[in-house]
Amino acid sequence: MEKGKKNSNPLHDSSQYVKGVGPSRQVLLSKLGISTVEDLILHFPRNYYDRSTLVTISQIDPHRLTSFWGTVLAVSKRNLGPRRSILTVALGDESGITHLIFFNQPYLEKQFKPGLKVIASGVRRTYRGQKQVVAPEFEILSGELGEELIHTGRIVPIYPLTAGISQRTMRRIVHAALEKAACHIIENLPPRLIESMDFPSRPEAFREIHYPSSARQCERAINRFKFEEVFFLHLLIHRRRNALSGFRPRPPIPPPHPLTARFINTLPFELTGGQKRVLGDIRRDMESEKGVSRLLQGDVGSGKTIVCLVAMMMAMEKGFQAALMVPTEILAVQHLEKIRSYLRNFSFRVELLIGSMKIARKKEVQGALGNGEVDLIVGTHALIQEGIAFKQLGMAVIDEQHRFGVKQRASLGQGNLLPHFLVMTATPIPRSLAQTVYGDLDLSVIDELPFGKRKVKTEIAGREDHRRVYAEVKEAFRRGNQAFILYPLVEESEKSDLKAATEEFERLQRDQLRGFPLGLLHGRMSFEEKSKAIEMFRSRKILGLVTTTVIEVGVDIPNASVLLVNHPERFGLAQLHQLRGRVGRGGGEGSCHLLTDENLSGASEKRLAFFASHDDGFKVAEADLKLRGPGEIWGYRQSGYPAFKLLNPLSDSSLVQRSWEESRIILEGDPELRKEENKVVSNYFHLYYKAKMELAEIG
Ligand code: ADP
Ligand code: MG
Repeated sequence: MEKGKKNSNPLHDSSQYVKGVGPSRQVLLSKLGISTVEDLILHFPRNYYDRSTLVTISQIDPHRLTSFWGTVLAVSKRNLGPRRSILTVALGDESGITHLIFFNQPYLEKQFKPGLKVIASGVRRTYRGQKQVVAPEFEILSGELGEELIHTGRIVPIYPLTAGISQRTMRRIVHAALEKAACHIIENLPPRLIESMDFPSRPEAFREIHYPSSARQCERAINRFKFEEVFFLHLLIHRRRNALSGFRPRPPIPPPHPLTARFINTLPFELTGGQKRVLGDIRRDMESEKGVSRLLQGDVGSGKTIVCLVAMMMAMEKGFQAALMVPTEILAVQHLEKIRSYLRNFSFRVELLIGSMKIARKKEVQGALGNGEVDLIVGTHALIQEGIAFKQLGMAVIDEQHRFGVKQRASLGQGNLLPHFLVMTATPIPRSLAQTVYGDLDLSVIDELPFGKRKVKTEIAGREDHRRVYAEVKEAFRRGNQAFILYPLVEESEKSDLKAATEEFERLQRDQLRGFPLGLLHGRMSFEEKSKAIEMFRSRKILGLVTTTVIEVGVDIPNASVLLVNHPERFGLAQLHQLRGRVGRGGGEGSCHLLTDENLSGASEKRLAFFASHDDGFKVAEADLKLRGPGEIWGYRQSGYPAFKLLNPLSDSSLVQRSWEESRIILEGDPELRKEENKVVSNYFHLYYKAKMELAEIG
């Protein structure tokens, strides 16, 4: 919209014309993503001060977040190194003194002038005899507490800010925007739902979330907005799925599947109960109208590959093609070889398509895909490049989904029929999170491993243990076992880390592991070099593979039993678990040694200790999730869905589940949202979400 142009909907007017904003502040607001009146009223507080529970300094709670105020007595700053500093602000009142501690925010020093009044909230701790509140929420008051906050009511909002706009200013601006907008805010949920969820009306919710009349009302308002965030997303997901199955039917793959049955019988092992259950789910999906759109979770080593191969085979024996997309070329080749060997007694043509193949060869495979000569294709992103056409893709499988975005999955689905989709991951996703991130997928879990519980003994090895660890590695080498020796790769400094891995490789050869054949494998090597290194390792010509995270996903070398991880603190826990899954795969024991050095922080140490004592991938992922948030782990930032402002799909799982059900029920009774009671929903949906209908087409 043109800046400043009057719009039929006053909520969409530029925020620049809200009282107290003006052109220069508007520039600052833009940094917060605020350009309209509506953006301003949707700029929700990230926290509140509750004046009714304001305490004196001696009463700051050591266990609970409390708000307090006092006068700045003294300020001191200590520099600990480049970009590292501690700022200590002594704050006092008649009852006592406490110290506000800020790490690495030296610029705050200028703000805390002795004599200023400060309101803050945080949790008290005692550190070396000193009472402290670390990284508190704070606000410097310009007058006495009374005059400053009185007009804002009992519970005072704390807004996310940007440099140049103070809390006070932000409060005034949002307040003005709210006044301006009040009579234009429209309801977007049906009355029945508002009632059954005990939500405030929408205008009331806006008032209460910014200026709560009580903690209880504030919570109701927050809940309502959280629900809105996920409810319309769910409507979108359900509608998209309904729309798709309307236009593009799924390939018919009805029973019987005699060839597949024969295949299962020729396997050298019996499928586990978990594998059978999942295959049952998949068969049922195939027979239903909506088809297979399933997320398959199973810990590393639970045998997902064979499950997907069986599913692909059911499609192939009905004359359809199948595709398996994986995140790395190494994995693609590994899958190709495995699948070819499984299918050696069947007459299916299985091919590879990866970026580093010769162009002529690629063209050849593409041609054979297009005319239907290739039955099963294994590949990387190369499968979704321009110019790839299938004759008729029936089953598309994506391995290690967390490495791909939703759109990439969607691009596998071009054609007259919408292929069945199977998506596999070893990083488990709690149901409520799956319903927001991969809301379009049903969920199956393989909850057992083929050989029962795999044992990978995990230890944290400090500096003093390194010598012993290398002795153990040599011992393992002498027994004929193999080891991965891992170095992290940080994106910003890929080169220097690579240097580290290369140098370490040379050092290990010279020093700790002298006399044993070692190999080097990293992401910057050409595909040929990589394949050669892996092949040497697989055929036991080398015993120790010095490598980076290129081995993270899926690499299956049954004889590898030892994993050394250097700088383990630089990895996420779920990632470490994946890595740990690379050893002890042949049913034997594996060991994982996390090599740390002195300057490991307390938090890192705790994290690693948790990892070392937990074997269950689900537990590990859950802990990782709490520490890093879902965006990091499942990359939902690149998935194309809006980030949530208020909702946390994990802690708000009951809201997510409720929304999932309610949105489904509403659409079941009224697919086009035409009924009177759903008008409000439909209006809002069309205004804000309709445009997203055409984005990623997802099975
Ligand atoms: P992941 O789930 O991590 O992808 P894979 O599919 O690579 O696991 O399987 C791990 C190993 O277990 C493979 O070597 C595979 O051949 C083997 N395997 C799979 N299913 C079974 C089974 N039911 N019984 C015994 N071994 C199995
Ligand atoms: Mg796998």
